[in-house]
Amino acid sequence: MKLTKLVIASGNLKKLKEFERLLAPLGIEVIPQSAFNVPEAPEPHCTFLENALAKARNAARHTRLPSLADDSGVCVHALGGNPGVNSAYYAGQHKSDADNNAKLIADLHGITDRGAHYTALLALVMSETDPEPIIAEGRWYGEIVDTPRGEGGFGYDPYFLDTELGMTGAEMPIDQRGARSHRGKALAKLIAELQERFG
Ligand code: IMP
Repeated sequence: MKLTKLVIASGNLKKLKEFERLLAPLGIEVIPQSAFNVPEAPEPHCTFLENALAKARNAARHTRLPSLADDSGVCVHALGGNPGVNSAYYAGQHKSDADNNAKLIADLHGITDRGAHYTALLALVMSETDPEPIIAEGRWYGEIVDTPRGEGGFGYDPYFLDTELGMTGAEMPIDQRGARSHRGKALAKLIAELQERFG
C-alpha cells in the first residue's frame, strides 16, 4: 500500500506549512482537516501522546482518510515541565501567543535556570480504529530569553533560543528549521517508519 494523501489534524497554518514542506518530496499530498470541516478534537489528556492520538483518530473518523496529528508544546525545566501539554492555552482558553509569552516571561521572573525544550509527538493512523498507529517524538533543546527576537515562526518562537546556533526559533531560516525543530525531527522518524511499512 502506498500513502499518497494525508489529512493533517490541525488548524495551525504554521504547522501545516512545516508538514507540507517536509512531506512533499515523498509525493504525499497534505490536506488540512479544515478542508473537510472536521471539528477540533478535545485535548483533555495529560500526555502529548494521548492528545495526538485523540486528534488523529478524530480526523480519521470524519474524513475516512489516513490522518496525522501533532501534539506539541514547550517544556520549561524550572517550571516542572510547564506549560507542556497546556502550551496553547497557558494564559487561557483564548489561545493567544502574546498572552502565553507574557505569562511565561512573568513566571520566569528572577529564575536563572532558563533551560527548556520543545516536544512534538506525532501520531499517524490509517483509520479511526487503526490498532498500529505510527508514533514518533522529537525534541528541540534551548533556553527561554526575556527579550523577543525575530519575525518568523509562531507561538513561543521569539523567546526560544537555540543556544547552539545562537538564534531564536523566530530568527531561524525555514530551511534550517526542519533539521533543528522538534517537529522536523519527529517527522524524520515517522518517515523512516512509513518507508519500512509501505516502501
Ligand atoms: P497544540 O496545537 O495543542 O499541539 O499546541 C501546541 C502549542 O505549543 C502551540 O500553540 C504553541 O504555543 C506551542 N508550540 C508547539 N510547537 C511550537 C513551535 O514549533 N514553535 C512555537 N510554539 C510551538
